[in-house]
Amino acid sequence: DRPPRFHRKFIHIHEDGRSASSGHFRVMQWNILAQALGEGMDSFVHCPLEALSWSQRKYLILEEILIHRPHILCLQEVDHYFDTFQPVLAGLGYCSHFCPKPWSPCLDVEGNNGPDGCALFYDQSEFELLDSVNIRLSAMRIPTNQVAVVTMLRSRHNNRSVCIAVTHLKARAGWEWLRSAQGSDLLRQLQNLVQQRHSPSPASQDVPLLVCGDFNAVPSEEVYRRFTSSLLGLDSAYKKLSQDGSTEPAYTTWKIRPTGECCSTLDYIWYAKDSLRVEAVLDMPTEEQIGPNRLPSYNYPSDHLSLVCDFSFKERE
Ligand code: NDP
Ligand code: CA
Repeated sequence: DRPPRFHRKFIHIHEDGRSASSGHFRVMQWNILAQALGEGMDSFVHCPLEALSWSQRKYLILEEILIHRPHILCLQEVDHYFDTFQPVLAGLGYCSHFCPKPWSPCLDVEGNNGPDGCALFYDQSEFELLDSVNIRLSAMRIPTNQVAVVTMLRSRHNNRSVCIAVTHLKARAGWEWLRSAQGSDLLRQLQNLVQQRHSPSPASQDVPLLVCGDFNAVPSEEVYRRFTSSLLGLDSAYKKLSQDGSTEPAYTTWKIRPTGECCSTLDYIWYAKDSLRVEAVLDMPTEEQIGPNRLPSYNYPSDHLSLVCDFSFKERE
């Protein structure tokens, strides 16, 4: 009675009036579901506990990563960094940085494997490290429990730099104001990093930015508008999947808890639209492919779907 694994296809984006570009690279964004939270806190009532065991899930998570082989991998809810993801992915040529949450809810679960946090991996054969910083997000100058990893990389193919941030904003209804404040703080800190560290002269162009995250916010929330309207020139890559090119997918997470079903768009890949081009986007599985018990399941290890995009650097004018 197990439905078949989903087959997701890359949709190539064809746009008129394309200028030259170079240095294709692939980015993956995924909230992998912390092992401690999935077993101990989330109450996914239609998912058998056996499907949530680490011995089942770890191979499905690694398989999803290795099917797509992203050059840049941004993960949230990582509570098996030191014992699994860092060593396994290092063996496959990835370097990485991890930032645990200061008061991870995983620590409240009996038998936990340490705090969860955000992790950023990059393929060493494609990118060279310039700098990486772990930041704690503030709201009205007060430090919060949410973090980000910000990594500055340089392409080994065309020497272009790119700055990537991975974050996981505060969850749940009622905290819209906090997500908005955390998003604003992240944008402010990114603006400082992109402008000051690697573009000392005012004439030189800023480093292109990518921000991947579980924002825990639907597109109508204030934090989404703050990202769309910031001076950093960001756009959300998954809108390219829609017919009109300006609508987010219907869902990036789909789960059933005792309180009901939750099907919503909370995860995003933001990119600097003046300097990067979206070449292809991995499509979303259909409702039928996801199945009546939704996520996670024996076939898919997280309640969030992975987002995968191919980008290129636009040639400078
Ligand atoms: P969040 O509210 O951001 O959520 C934490 C996790 O819970 C997320 O991974 C989220 O997943 C998941 N989640 C969201 N909705 C539900 C739900 N309905 N049922 C179960 N899980 C859900 O966490 P905070 O960072 O604010 O941390 C909260 C915890 O941290 C507290 O439980 C507390 O124990 C601890 N804490 C302790 C402090 C201390 O002083 N000791 C201080 C602050 C926090 P997703 O993002 O996928 O929705
Ligand atoms: Ca979660």
